[in-house]
Amino acid sequence: MLLIGSATLSCFGISDKEKEKTDSPNIIVIFADDLGYGDLGVFGHPSYKTPNLDMMAFEGQKWTNFYVAAPVCTPSRAGLLTGRLPIRSGMSSDKRRVLFPDSNGGLPQTEITIAKALKVNGYQTAAVGKWHLGHQSPYLPTDHGFDSYFGIPYSNDMDKVEKTDHFTLAENERFQAYNVPILRDDKEVERPADQRTITKRYTEEVVEKIHSLKDNGPFFIYLAHSLPHIPLFRSEEFKDVSVGGIYGDVIEEIDWSVGQILETLKQEGLAENTLVVFTSDNGPWHTFKTHGGTAGLLRGAKGGTFEGGMRVPTIFWWPGNIRPAVVTDMGTTMDLMPTFCALSGTKLPEDRIYDGYDITPLLMGTGEGIRETVFYYHGQQVYAIRNGNYKAHFITQLEYGNPTAHPVTNPPVPLESNATILDEPLLYNVNVDPGERFNIAADHPEVILEIRKILAQHKASLVPVENQLEK
Ligand code: MG
Repeated sequence: MLLIGSATLSCFGISDKEKEKTDSPNIIVIFADDLGYGDLGVFGHPSYKTPNLDMMAFEGQKWTNFYVAAPVCTPSRAGLLTGRLPIRSGMSSDKRRVLFPDSNGGLPQTEITIAKALKVNGYQTAAVGKWHLGHQSPYLPTDHGFDSYFGIPYSNDMDKVEKTDHFTLAENERFQAYNVPILRDDKEVERPADQRTITKRYTEEVVEKIHSLKDNGPFFIYLAHSLPHIPLFRSEEFKDVSVGGIYGDVIEEIDWSVGQILETLKQEGLAENTLVVFTSDNGPWHTFKTHGGTAGLLRGAKGGTFEGGMRVPTIFWWPGNIRPAVVTDMGTTMDLMPTFCALSGTKLPEDRIYDGYDITPLLMGTGEGIRETVFYYHGQQVYAIRNGNYKAHFITQLEYGNPTAHPVTNPPVPLESNATILDEPLLYNVNVDPGERFNIAADHPEVILEIRKILAQHKASLVPVENQLEK
């Protein structure tokens, strides 16, 4: 494929002379919030009906070893959109987990998002939904390569103005208790956001974008649902539709949304020229019990570095192009940036380290995956590393608000309450034992030695940058 270039971003190494029309595919990323590994029918949930996501997986690829860059919202999103571990952009912290309404930082302008990269190659770009990478300029979606934006700038439980607990507020549909704004581009257009209709309105926005952008070149749409992050809300049509309670209702509305988007692509004749990816930003929020999801057979949840916190249900769909399959190779959200660049003929910037790999050969069935390692960051610390089948934990935290079963041997713990620094790492074979139940460290000292070397090499690649979450 030929490139559409711009001299304005010299790091791409593309000149105006190279501007030519391409047959680059449209790309849509659907990113759920706090959706657990076990929350979809196709990933094993026995109560929630997700026929559209099930069909998407059947027609495309279901990835069962797909990870996020962090077990919590802000750094996870930074990782997806930049293709880089959040520690490289200053978007992770040991003091503040995420950005808050009183934060002054955000994704720095020095970072190149997927949108910014694809825009150079002639893509039209739109962001819809939760942002959470800075709610003020120059950190907004429209400052980061997106032509338009419609959504809430941070989490739907923030700006809470009533003391009543989240459960009661959600059950009573008290959306006014959260004074969260909705922005259109950089302007506030609604406050408090009526969260009862938010999934429906995000969906309508994406469908409208598909209609309006389809004739003007390729498009990239980033749809980051606010839900099923608590507080849970769903539209009138989805009240009590699920046997799985209010969380099931929310999941089934998100599934409906996926169906609307795929159906629109089919009706417009765009299905075979549009790659759609569905994934989640981190594991389920167990603290909220039946208002949080499930990681299925995986151990741990949001806020933790066991598999349940960072392995997420992921589906790729591109009829006629992607080889339908269940893929057990490792992948991460950071792989999307280099993969989208490869598929669209966009040159990946060469002036920085990427933590993602081009997974096109796996998608197309033309080759093997090259990823061997996954880093499980918690804030700015590497708590665990997976290398091939083996995962070593150096520090453990099961999930937010819940200590692990392992004794604290080196107090005090400076990183996060409930974290445990281990004298001896834990080691699991996460293919044989995805639930991380059987510690085999004593049998494989050579594996732990190898993983320690990987950790040392990785640390040597880090360059200190300004911390954005602590500003
Ligand atoms: Mg989240």
